[in-house]
Amino acid sequence: MSRRGRSKSIALVVAAVIAVAPLVGLNVLLWLHINANGIQQIDAAAAEILAQVDERLDTAMTALIGLGVKDVKTCGHDSRNKIDQAAASTPFTREFAIMDSEHTVLCSNSGRMRVVRAVSARHETLYPQITFDLVDYGGAHSARLVRLVWTHDDGSLIRVMIAGKELIPPIIVGKLQSDFLARLMLADGTLVAARLTHQNLDVAESTPNAFEAYASSERYPVSVRISVPRVAMWQTYRDLFIYGNAGGLLMSSIIMLVAWGGIRRLEGPEREITDAIRNNEFICYYQPVIDLTTGRLVGCEALVRRRKSDGTIIPPSAFIPLAESSGKIYDITRQVLRKGREDLDAAYADRPHLKVSFNLVAGHFDSFDILDDVKAIFSGSKIRMSQMVFEVTERQELPNIARARVVIARLQELGTQVALDDVGTGHGGLSYLLKLGVDQMKIDKMFVDAIGTDRYSTAIIDSLVRLASEMSMDLVAEGVETTEQIEYLRQKGVRSAQGYVFAPPLPAKSYLALVEAMSPLKQGASPNHRSATQAA
Ligand code: C2E
Ligand code: CA
Ligand code: CA
Repeated sequence: MSRRGRSKSIALVVAAVIAVAPLVGLNVLLWLHINANGIQQIDAAAAEILAQVDERLDTAMTALIGLGVKDVKTCGHDSRNKIDQAAASTPFTREFAIMDSEHTVLCSNSGRMRVVRAVSARHETLYPQITFDLVDYGGAHSARLVRLVWTHDDGSLIRVMIAGKELIPPIIVGKLQSDFLARLMLADGTLVAARLTHQNLDVAESTPNAFEAYASSERYPVSVRISVPRVAMWQTYRDLFIYGNAGGLLMSSIIMLVAWGGIRRLEGPEREITDAIRNNEFICYYQPVIDLTTGRLVGCEALVRRRKSDGTIIPPSAFIPLAESSGKIYDITRQVLRKGREDLDAAYADRPHLKVSFNLVAGHFDSFDILDDVKAIFSGSKIRMSQMVFEVTERQELPNIARARVVIARLQELGTQVALDDVGTGHGGLSYLLKLGVDQMKIDKMFVDAIGTDRYSTAIIDSLVRLASEMSMDLVAEGVETTEQIEYLRQKGVRSAQGYVFAPPLPAKSYLALVEAMSPLKQGASPNHRSATQAA
C-alpha cells in the first residue's frame, strides 16, 4: 500500500475510533455508575434498616427494663396498668406478658395467654437480666417473633414479643431505586423476617447473581442482608442505558458522518485524479520550440492536459498541485511519457534533430525510479534517448541536491538531456545551476514579458546568456509573445524560444502537421531504417 493509501486508512480508523469512543466511554461510565452507585445504595439501605431494627429493640428493651426494675411480677391491678402502659408506649410490640418461672403466662396486655415455642437458641443481651431469642406460635406458617425475657431474682419472668416484620420498617422505596429483598437474620442464619420492595420478587426466591450488602448489629445477635438481583438492577437502569445509548449512538453517527464527509471532501478531487489516471485521461499538448537564428523547428515541450470523457480539456494548473502533493504526479508522468511516445514515435523516428521536453517534479530527482520508467517506456521506441529532454523546475526546492545531481547524471548517461525550467524564479541562484550540471536553461516568461517595458533590466538575460555560453548550455526563452521580444532575444544570442508568437501548445495531430510542414522528410528517405540506431 502506498504511504498515501496507508495514511488514508489510518485517517478512516481514527475517524471511526473518534466516533465510537464516546459510545464505549458512555457504557463504561454507565456500568461503573450502576456498580458503584447501586452497591453504595444497597450498603446504605442495609445500614439504615439495621439502625431502625436496633432502635426498636432498644425501645422494647427500655420498656422491659422499666417493668423489671419496678418489680412487676404479679398480675395485680398496678402491674397490669404498667404492662398496658409499656405496650402503649411501644406500639410496634405484639405483647407484654407476666409469666411464672415455668413460662406459663399469668397475664398479658392483650388478655391472651399465648403459648409460643422457641425456634432459636437463647442469646444474652447487654443487660444481664434480659435474654433474646426467636419464637413462633407453632403453626406451619406462623410468623416469627423476637422475644425478650426479663428474669427476676425469684425466677418469675416478664416477656415482650415483637413480630419480625415489625422490626423491619416499611422501606421507603425511593431510598433504593431497584426492587430488593431485605432479610433480618439471627447470627446463626435463622430468618427473622423478610421484606420486599415492589411485588416483583419472591421471598423464597434465591437470588443468584445478586448485588448484596450486610450490616450486623453490635447490640443484638441480628444482621440485615439486602439482595438486589441483577435483573432488578438492570430494570432500574434500563431506561438510562437505552436513552444513554440511543443518544450516544446518535452522537457517534453524527461524528462519524462529519468525519466521513470531511474525509470524502478531502478525498474527492484526489479520487478524481485516480479515476482519470485509470481512464487514461491524461494526454499531451505539444508547444513548438523554434530556433531563433534559422527559424526552424527544434522540437516541442510536452504539456499535460486532462481530456475528460465528454471531451473537455482541463489545464494542468487545475490538477498538478494536488497531483504533486498527493503523489499522483508519478502515475501522471508515466502516462504523459507513454502518450509522448505514442504520438511522436513515427514522426521523430525519421527526424533525429527534433527534441521533446517532458516536465518532471522535484520528487523525480530524489529517486532512481524515473530512470527505470524512462527505460521501460522508451525501450523499443523509435524516439532516441538523444531526442529527449527532461525539465526540472527551479520553482520547487530539490529535497537533496547531491542525489538530484546523480539522477541528472544518470539521465545524461542514458543519452537524454536535462533542462532547468523557470530559471530566475526559484531559490537556487546560479551556484545551484552549476551543481546540477544541466544541459539547458529555460528563461522564465517573467523576464521575456519585461522586454521592451520600462521596468526592464537587461541584467538577468545578459548574465544567463553569458553563463550559458561559458558552460556550453542551450538557452530557451519561454512565453515569447511578440516579434519585438524575438528580435531582442536573437540579438542577445538566445538560441531558441517557445511562445504564442509561434504557436500555443497544440494537440498531437496539429503538432504532427506542423512537423510535416516545417520539417519535411527528404524525398526517398525510408521512414524506418534509422530506428536501428535507437539507444537501448
Ligand atoms: P511550464 O513548464 O513553465 O510550461 C509553460 C507554460 O506556459 C505552459 O502552460 C504554456 O502553455 C504556457 N505558455 C507557453 N507560451 C506562452 C505564451 O506565449 N504566453 C503565455 N501566457 N503562456 C505561455 P501550461 O501548459 O498551462 O502548463 C503550466 C504548467 O504546468 C507548466 O509550466 C508546468 O509547470 C506544468 N506542467 C505542464 N505539463 C506538465 C507535466 O507533464 N508534468 C508536470 N510535472 N508539470 C507539467
Ligand atoms: Ca516546462
Ligand atoms: Ca517554464
